[in-house]
Amino acid sequence: MKKLSDLNTIKSLLTRHGFQFSKALGQNFLIDPTVCPRMAQACGAGEDTGVIEVGPGFGVLTQELASRANKVVAIELDKRLPAVLAETLADFDNVTVINEDVMKLDLHGLIRHDFAGLQVLVCANLPYYITSPVIMKLLEERLPIQSLTVMVQKEAAVRICSQPGKRECGAVSVAVQYYAEPEILFDVPRDSFYPAPNVDSAVIRLKIRKEPPIDLGGATEAQFFRMVHAAFGQRRKTVLNALSAGLSQDKASLSQALEQAGIRSNARAEQLTMEQFGALCRTLFGSANG
Ligand code: SAM
Repeated sequence: MKKLSDLNTIKSLLTRHGFQFSKALGQNFLIDPTVCPRMAQACGAGEDTGVIEVGPGFGVLTQELASRANKVVAIELDKRLPAVLAETLADFDNVTVINEDVMKLDLHGLIRHDFAGLQVLVCANLPYYITSPVIMKLLEERLPIQSLTVMVQKEAAVRICSQPGKRECGAVSVAVQYYAEPEILFDVPRDSFYPAPNVDSAVIRLKIRKEPPIDLGGATEAQFFRMVHAAFGQRRKTVLNALSAGLSQDKASLSQALEQAGIRSNARAEQLTMEQFGALCRTLFGSANG
């Protein structure tokens, strides 16, 4: 089996396949030999699991996943990579490479077709230019998956895993908390990649919740997320001003709703807890729908 964290192996593949890294596709490949085994271990890949990998690159993480899981489906957008992967994954008969854009793929169909009877996990070193859209697609589609274990930029990791009510919290943190329990597992410095990016990374794990952590009452999820986006829409403003601008509602009724939900009218979105977002959503939209 080719040792894909070895720089000489990578250089030989680059030469033989005439491959050049695409910055636009976020192609920074892992060369620290300890990272992929740790990720594969942390995601829980085992005999009774099927793993979806986004962006296998040359297959360095895919090899670790395939040697542990029952089956791996690796989704890679770059048209040049299936030929390389056919070579680097030749020792495995439990890997399928799908040469598509993960954002356009029917993942429910894929899971039904490829992973019947298996627990499904996602494990990936994500392309950084679409970290949040990929994570949100995987969460919002309510796929029958147990968890996502993904490598993202360090700053994104902090934001995604921040608890609502904390300074680093943003709309994405609230959305992630709604669907999952996130945690940062370990840091990965920039020199763990070839070519080295100019930022550090971290591996995070999102355990999918069976039930959302808050009750929206009569409000819909669409209303909840619209409200959350409006609240964080103008970060330096109070939640009152941000909601008034974002939801086109008058301040007097919003002020009343905030009071009813137990929120100070001069609070900022990043100071609100998950429960307060829930209470505000019920107050704003709960009865209107009923
Ligand atoms: N897994 C490899 C590793 O850890 O060394 C490569 C990770 S690299 C950071 C991200 C990979 O995602 C690249 O191989 C890139 O071509 C692929 N990619 C970028 N955009 C994608 C998309 N929309 N759908 C699927 N794969 C994508």
